[in-house]
Amino acid sequence: MDYSRQIAAIGEEGQLRLAQAKVLVAGAGGLGSSLLPALASSGLGAITLYDPDTVSASNLSRQLLYRKRDIGRYKADAAHDFLADINPDISIQAFRKSFAFDGQYDLLIDATDSLPHKQKLALFAWESNTPAIIGALSPLEGNIFLQQRRAPGIPCFHCLFPEVGTTPQLRESFREGVLSALPQFAGSAMAYYAILLLLQKPVTGNLIRITPSGTRTLRQAPSQACPYHPGTLSHLENANQ
Ligand SMILES: [Zn+2]
Repeated sequence: MDYSRQIAAIGEEGQLRLAQAKVLVAGAGGLGSSLLPALASSGLGAITLYDPDTVSASNLSRQLLYRKRDIGRYKADAAHDFLADINPDISIQAFRKSFAFDGQYDLLIDATDSLPHKQKLALFAWESNTPAIIGALSPLEGNIFLQQRRAPGIPCFHCLFPEVGTTPQLRESFREGVLSALPQFAGSAMAYYAILLLLQKPVTGNLIRITPSGTRTLRQAPSQACPYHPGTLSHLENANQ
């Protein structure tokens, strides 16, 4: 793969950093369909993905990783083949079911449509001090949360989205439907921020909201009620129990 145009933008050192990066992507559906090819073609050293689903006809209108001939195949297998075709020079591992996270990744990305999964991945990332990117869609809007390494003033996913079902902007898109072009937009934005984080470029916002009235990057503060932040009231209460 010839990365000369990208190297002109990020330098040899940046490209080498990407080549050494190991990234985990949960979910190879709508968000994953634009996220994964963008990561593979950027020359990330190793991509591990997992998705337990098989390709169905209703996926094809927005999940551009898949073609009609893939219907019935495991997404993990079809995605693996697609990405290996794009870039045979990188390592791609694809699994048909979820597995235990471990600390061997430089970045964890959640592109599933499951809020409990997002919370689980975000919490593991926070506790292992691994950066994470979590994407979620509602019918016409996308939300991307960048969970950076732990530091004063940095919120975790739980700070913003404490409980399943209480966050209207993070409802499951599965039952509600979604505009076909939206996962492609949001998935590409996730890849863009993934690469910025891997290159350790300064990214000041932590919540990117894609809405019909514009795309905004917000900078959210930690919640005083979050149990995962030392020094907050709720953390002290937990520690005393
Ligand atoms: Zn928190």
